[in-house]
Amino acid sequence: MRRKLLESIADRGALLAMWWSDSEAFSQYDFLKQIQALCENRAGLLVDLGGWLNDLAPQPDCGMLFARKVQLGPETTGTWQGLATLAPSPAPYATDAASWRFLIGNLQNAQERYPFVVMLLPRQWQPFMGPALAASTLAVCTASNVSEANELAQHLEKLHKPDTLSLWWSSAKPDPSAYPQLAKAQKSWGTLAAHTTDSHLLWRDLIRIRILLRNPPEGWLFTASKLGWLATLLLCLLPFWPVSDLGHPISGLRDLSEDKARFSEASYIQLEFNGQEPLQRIARYAIGRYTALVTHEAMVAGYVKETLARNSLSDSGWQKQDPLLFPPKGTQIRFYPPESIKNPRYEVNAPAWRFFTGMLTDSIAYLTEFYHESETANQRKHDGIDIGSRMGARILAPFSAKAWTAKDDRGGVIIGLVRGDDVMLFMHCDQLLYLDGQEVMEGDPIATVGMTGHTTGPHVHLASGLVSKNGSRSIGPVRYNPMDPLEWYRVQAKRKLRGSGF
Ligand SMILES: [Zn+2]
Repeated sequence: MRRKLLESIADRGALLAMWWSDSEAFSQYDFLKQIQALCENRAGLLVDLGGWLNDLAPQPDCGMLFARKVQLGPETTGTWQGLATLAPSPAPYATDAASWRFLIGNLQNAQERYPFVVMLLPRQWQPFMGPALAASTLAVCTASNVSEANELAQHLEKLHKPDTLSLWWSSAKPDPSAYPQLAKAQKSWGTLAAHTTDSHLLWRDLIRIRILLRNPPEGWLFTASKLGWLATLLLCLLPFWPVSDLGHPISGLRDLSEDKARFSEASYIQLEFNGQEPLQRIARYAIGRYTALVTHEAMVAGYVKETLARNSLSDSGWQKQDPLLFPPKGTQIRFYPPESIKNPRYEVNAPAWRFFTGMLTDSIAYLTEFYHESETANQRKHDGIDIGSRMGARILAPFSAKAWTAKDDRGGVIIGLVRGDDVMLFMHCDQLLYLDGQEVMEGDPIATVGMTGHTTGPHVHLASGLVSKNGSRSIGPVRYNPMDPLEWYRVQAKRKLRGSGF
């Protein structure tokens, strides 16, 4: 993972579980300082499930978090020493898994507003605390004696990689012979884990390590990470990857649903021009919207003519940059379904068109070429579809998958996603936001639209395929056979009807 990317993910915050085993050892003041240092100047959220913070009453309690989806904000929380807070619920906590999933979901959603969310878990171990711990980025534990530490260790050891999940913030720690996995962590952290004024720095490092472990790059780093905890730590702290400038912040996805709905449902598209935008650009989008394909310049020229006539507009006096026309600022133009171009397959292709253009953070992306399995007299072979877009628009992962990257003269900078049998490749990218072997989450920006390789303008060549041992193509270690992306879409849409797919 690129260091910058790691930092920016770490900076988005974390869900922390705190297990205070003994109230004597717990200094509210120390603890508050760590949380505030961790949050820096941002808002933090503290959810007291265990009744630790006596001065919280009478705040809103956390009972609602178990029952439904709640938007957490100033209206639904109290405050304590600058942190947003929720007090323990007076009723006994739900013990069913579904209620606890609600709680975890609510806390994860709350991270949009409060990057660092801290759960103070009840003193008595409860069955529901397992999933809550597993969902956390880091568990900070205190114990006033070994038997208390052992009690928690017994539950922590059941989790995957408990040594990287937990930090013992007290001098009492679990018995190393009984809990070997946790003992591993203690060896590295032993001298650091006691209360210190800057424990939050250690918490931060652990959060980074958790992120790396959840996105293990394959290859040497992966091997190194198996060598041990300390090796992983050193790798995290060293500038182990050449930092390349991402150019854009990776967060801040534009929500396109409104644009899409507006452009998809209206019987025409109406736009007010700003004086800088060529008519042809919107014309291309409109043709794509209505016929699901833009194939050649003559098509665009014909439609521009038709559009001017239907709007009773003349282009005389407009700024021209052959073949582009720039309507003056404030010009309103309606784009209707083209009369001169008919695509009998429009109804069939429109949902796929929306799916593929919707992967780009460019509300006027359009399809410019379909898949052609073999060459004909007037059609060259084309093993994917082309989506024209603004340079630098982000490509969003259409599904969660593992990413592989490649580079060649024709396709330029390439990123491929592999999930089960499915392969999807994006070519001509400008910048890659993932590295080989990393897990990508659906909706993550994976690359930006560019002009690398063989292209005449910024666009994405999107290819899809099915994994096959003897496949004719490969991306990373995966062999596959190409498939028409529209066909791929139809297969997925059918699966989706049955409850899987995409
Ligand atoms: Zn292409």
